[in-house]
Amino acid sequence: MTTATEPAPRAEGVRWDLSPLVASAAEARTRLDAALERCRAFESRHRGAFDGMDGPGLAEALAELAALENELSRIHSYAALRESTDVEDTENRDLMSVVERGMVEAGNALRFFELDWIALPEARAAELAAAPEVAADRHYLLAARRFAPHTLAEPEERMLAERGPVVRAWQSLFGQVTSTLEAPFDAGEGEEPHTIDRLLAHVRNPDRDVRLRALDTLYGALDPHAGVLAHCYDTLVADRLAMDGLRSYPGPMELTHLRNEVPGEAVERMMDAVEGHYGLAQRWFGVKARILGLERLHLADQYAPVGAEARTVRFGEARAIIDASFRSFSPRVADLCDGFFSGRRIDAEPRSGKRGGAFCSSVAQDAQPYVLMNFTDRMDDVMTLAHELGHGMHFALSAGAQTALSFHTGLALAEVPSTFAELMAFDHLMATEEDPSTITALVCERVEGSFATVFRQTVLARYEQRAYRMRSEGTALTRDRLGEAWLEANARYYGDSLEIPDGYRLGWSYIPHFISTRFYTYAYVFAHLTTLALYARFREEGEDFVPRYLEFLAAGGSAAPADLLRPLGVDLDDPAVWEPGFREMERMVARAEELTA
Ligand SMILES: [Zn+2]
Repeated sequence: MTTATEPAPRAEGVRWDLSPLVASAAEARTRLDAALERCRAFESRHRGAFDGMDGPGLAEALAELAALENELSRIHSYAALRESTDVEDTENRDLMSVVERGMVEAGNALRFFELDWIALPEARAAELAAAPEVAADRHYLLAARRFAPHTLAEPEERMLAERGPVVRAWQSLFGQVTSTLEAPFDAGEGEEPHTIDRLLAHVRNPDRDVRLRALDTLYGALDPHAGVLAHCYDTLVADRLAMDGLRSYPGPMELTHLRNEVPGEAVERMMDAVEGHYGLAQRWFGVKARILGLERLHLADQYAPVGAEARTVRFGEARAIIDASFRSFSPRVADLCDGFFSGRRIDAEPRSGKRGGAFCSSVAQDAQPYVLMNFTDRMDDVMTLAHELGHGMHFALSAGAQTALSFHTGLALAEVPSTFAELMAFDHLMATEEDPSTITALVCERVEGSFATVFRQTVLARYEQRAYRMRSEGTALTRDRLGEAWLEANARYYGDSLEIPDGYRLGWSYIPHFISTRFYTYAYVFAHLTTLALYARFREEGEDFVPRYLEFLAAGGSAAPADLLRPLGVDLDDPAVWEPGFREMERMVARAEELTA
């Protein structure tokens, strides 16, 4: 029995039970073989079958495809979840390699379906997609065709695909340089080799000297590699621009916009609006300088702790905090969330061999989602748990209402339910927390977290736009030119509010998004501002908002973001659409100012 004086339980022993997914590694292998057999049968039955197909026939094929998708996704998730809690285990690694090979095989067998569908003449595809039998997957069908105008003939596509390994070689060269780079650094406990990530982590060090030296060391270590890193980027940008030309994309961002299903004009308006609010961050940097007793903030002080430290939290208390905050929003959501704990679908215990970080795996549309995290009794961990359970709610609700082909939401909205869940937990803590340091730490973290997402990721996207523009005008992207473009993009954000060290001209060089997926970062901005706007609505409308929000979650990926958001009062065509989001940020900055005055 738990009494009031007994501390809440720790995360020790909080491990998930994967047996409801698949009973064992042996069963996973058997099911994989059977699924691959079904994929091959699907291919021989349906290849070229679109010609004489009618609505019911298409619905039948889609249902079969969805069933395959579910089975493959379940097997793959099972193997991946097993491996994530014990990466060294040979049985796990063997299973993962078999499953990964199987996924490639399945992909090869099933790929024809989308390609054949895309190749259909517009009128014929429209007629088939309008059939009432395929209503549940209509968006999936129509959305798959958005790349059709940019897809070339099959022999051309095959030739372009053969370039894949060479393109990836530039990406992996970048990865090799940045992941193996180490510099000796002494954070107070003797000199040790530091990776980029470890040096960057020191920007949160309470000791200013450590922060300043860590950044200096980082730029010093990057300097000899900057030429190679610039060359990797220059080559990739040139290649992407050449591909855009072949595929008739009107601009370098078009592919990303299509993938995100967000209109380019809406993104441009959003980034303009964000830039119009940079003054908010500059104001906070002034406040922070005062808190830290500085004339002016240095780049290395941007994420420095403000002195207030949050108290520790046990896992049992974290569960109670999240349950209470979700329950006041909607009992249904809280019950769904409770299922993660009672059904042992959370692995929270930190232990050796387990991977770091946190994630929520949707597993499959006909299965339950799982959460992994490493709970170390910090207040941050409560937010992480809320975040992942936010994803979990989304997956659970959309899986219940959509098909396997339509339940996943695209990148632009995927982080909305998770961020929304963080805000629910945050508001609950603001109302109930008694420790003033914890409140201050939470508020400052919220402020700086939203700056890092909304403002900084916009700076990154603006820098990329500049790089693509330079390259398309025939200017090679050398380290010096990239450095100039980077400093200029950052100067717009920081203004005079922050002292920028000269070494920061290498700040572009280690950011993986630029290398792996162009213009990836604006989706973070979009999702964060959307969440803030939705939360502002919830505050205004109270209970009336809840059923519409749950409908939005249940809609999954069954429509484009603009159509999913419209019923919630977020209209992407409205020039003032992001103002409620900025007002939320302003509110939070004012709160932080008040707490640190
Ligand atoms: Zn997330």
